[in-house]
Amino acid sequence: MTKEQLRDFFVSQGDKAFRGNQVYEWLWQKSAHSFEGMTNISKTTREMLENNFVINHIKVDQMQRSNDGTIKNAVRLHDDLVVESVLIPTKTRSTACVSSQVGCSLDCRFCATARLKRMRNLNPDEIYDQVVAIDNESRLYFDRPLSNIVFMGMGEPLMNYNNVLKAIDMITSSEGLGMSPRRITVSTSGVPKMIKKMADDEVKFKLAVSLHSAIDETRTSIMPFNATFSLKDLREALEYWYAKTKSRITYEYVVWKGINDTQKDADALVDFCRFAPSKVNLIEYNPIDDGEFQQANDQALNLYINTLERNGITVTVRRSRGKDIDAACGQLANKQ
Ligand code: SAH
Repeated sequence: MTKEQLRDFFVSQGDKAFRGNQVYEWLWQKSAHSFEGMTNISKTTREMLENNFVINHIKVDQMQRSNDGTIKNAVRLHDDLVVESVLIPTKTRSTACVSSQVGCSLDCRFCATARLKRMRNLNPDEIYDQVVAIDNESRLYFDRPLSNIVFMGMGEPLMNYNNVLKAIDMITSSEGLGMSPRRITVSTSGVPKMIKKMADDEVKFKLAVSLHSAIDETRTSIMPFNATFSLKDLREALEYWYAKTKSRITYEYVVWKGINDTQKDADALVDFCRFAPSKVNLIEYNPIDDGEFQQANDQALNLYINTLERNGITVTVRRSRGKDIDAACGQLANKQ
């Protein structure tokens, strides 16, 4: 319930609207899991709440720690479904990687989450609570609060857009965690209509797109939904995004042997990067299967790096974290 709805509820009970603010604060700022613990509210009111409402909070069922410090949480939802979220620490930062759906709507052939199929969307509070849980872990194990959030866990955030937006509103609100939207990145496989919607909504967080190929035929063969959301539509949506937000786009890209490891592939990527300021993040492939996909060799990686740099495009190479506990990109699949 929104704060307004809670306030109205208390007024309809002959109580003060202010009581709604108190309950709201318990739920969002103090992460209360029961009405009993709301100690500044009278016992009778707490009992009344207990009889009329439920608090569907998440539960961190299992926590795994990688030998590189990465932490993966198996998060149980109120209906017993499970999603995963990850805390990725560096020397100076703690990044939370959170899920937006149980399973995923899309069918990327190299991703373990895709094999789960989409079971349901996460609610705003379920997304928010993953962040709170990771913030607590960061304080406990690394002595600092969370610094960044990436929507790169399970699911396609833009296929659960309204709930993701509501969660980010609470994460950035002073009534929630008060984080800056510039420290939040939403990653999408590229849903053109929703990218335009985000631009129209003038969102303040950053956008990352999982590109993996700038050639339609290749992209469709590894990300079949590209047959519906073609690169032309994606490009047009991204142009619209940049025109409205002036916010640079990050492209996530894995180079695979025999799939996208030639000069032609790298040239196509350069071409795709030209229409809006962007940066390329080359991600290491995390094997999830029988070897159908294999990370390209260093020579192919260097070909990409040289081609991009020669054309003035920023490129970074992202090393995998948490691989030993299946917490790296594309490995989230509720294995345990
Ligand atoms: N659905 C959104 C959010 C998931 S982000 C999206 O696609 O952007 C997860 C990132 O990991 C995406 O960039 C995805 O393409 C990448 N990925 C998926 N499987 C992978 C794998 N096996 N190895 C490395 N990266 C992978």
